[in-house]
Amino acid sequence: MSAAGHVAALSPVYPGSADAAGQRATLGVLGGGQLGRMFVHAAQRLGYFTAVLDPDAQSPAGLVSHHHIQTDYHDPAGLAQLAELSQAITTEFENVPAQALQALALTRPVAPGAAVVGIAQNRIEEKAHFAACADLAGVSCAPYAVIETPAQLQAVQAERAELLPGILKTARLGYDGKGQVRVQNAAELAAAWAELGGVACVLEKMLPLMAECSVLVARGWDGQVVSFAPQRNVHVDGILAVTHAYEGNMPPALADRAREAAVSIAQHLGYVGVLCVEFFVVDDGSAQGGLVVNEMAPRPHNSGHYTLDACDASQFDLQVYTLAGLPLPEPRQHSPAIMLNLLGDVWLNAGGGQREPDWRSVLSLPGTHLHLYGKAQARPGRKMGHLTITGPDVARVKAVARRAAGLLGLPGLDDL
Ligand code: ATP
Ligand code: MG
Repeated sequence: MSAAGHVAALSPVYPGSADAAGQRATLGVLGGGQLGRMFVHAAQRLGYFTAVLDPDAQSPAGLVSHHHIQTDYHDPAGLAQLAELSQAITTEFENVPAQALQALALTRPVAPGAAVVGIAQNRIEEKAHFAACADLAGVSCAPYAVIETPAQLQAVQAERAELLPGILKTARLGYDGKGQVRVQNAAELAAAWAELGGVACVLEKMLPLMAECSVLVARGWDGQVVSFAPQRNVHVDGILAVTHAYEGNMPPALADRAREAAVSIAQHLGYVGVLCVEFFVVDDGSAQGGLVVNEMAPRPHNSGHYTLDACDASQFDLQVYTLAGLPLPEPRQHSPAIMLNLLGDVWLNAGGGQREPDWRSVLSLPGTHLHLYGKAQARPGRKMGHLTITGPDVARVKAVARRAAGLLGLPGLDDL
């Protein structure tokens, strides 16, 4: 086993193959959400069998997988069954228990490994890692302080006034803007920390954002690395609303640096699998702005969903290739694209009642690709699906995106 906690050597698992006992080549995934579902689709298209472990009988990935093990993530019998069925195992959600990955890694290649997933699950360790590779990447994170004790809170209040106004973020278990409180002054900071239950947090300086972007990197067991060009992301209420993926979506010099930084972060981690690194473009007085690294996700990412329809290899294809030990083709984007997230709100009336979106009109627009995740219950803010628009040129993609957003009542396109 390597220092990163996974079985180091992987003999490639070729699609469509079977072992001596006749067991078909099967890839496993811990977690059954939409990311797992799209991984399963990509694996199945190549001819793999798939196994999903998720306690929910109706999980998006469980519904479409050959095998669905319905147990808790900690259940030893469930984990043993997943390992028994699968030649290699990946994960699809950020807060997957590290012990589960460790248990699986005793007998099967697991990518990404428990150690790196653990770093990404904890903002304190994540920022320390970014700081450790800042020299290489030439990009730093937002100024911050760790708050784990009342003494640290007081020290920050007394000595780190430059971090206010700021955002207090829980070190663990935050996503889609949850576990975050914006604070203006020292009194609000103390109240916010109490409100978050006094758990380990980081206080980050509030930065003047000009834009946000993210980069997807895929790295194989042998260290081969490929990446996608950065996509520009628009968030509404802390949740990704729109991804712009086309040439000219951001200044080329910044795009190059973000890509370089993301690759170097993946390499420093000895990462295996698909990694998404999020960046802020900050107003630093220059015309283009400065680049700041925000956080990373040890898996494919919502901002990379456009790759399914706009690239010759998607982020999920690359997740399959990395896991199975196949060569990694440099992905090529063949169409400009805009991705619109479809949250549960699209299915809800102002009064809270259910409605059916006007798919007939939306799907009659050229270059629209609808992806729904098979979730039965629409709730505000719940990720139900996404719509990617591709076209022959950026102007036409933008025009269709505007019309689709109008038909569905989607926010986040004001800057088009
Ligand atoms: P997700 O997992 O959905 O990406 P998250 O809950 O982990 O999100 P962050 O990415 O840290 O949280 O923050 C969510 C959003 O809040 C960012 O995309 C950005 O718009 C805003 N934000 C976060 N930190 C800062 C900051 N230091 N300055 C300004 N805006 C910020
Ligand atoms: Mg984020």
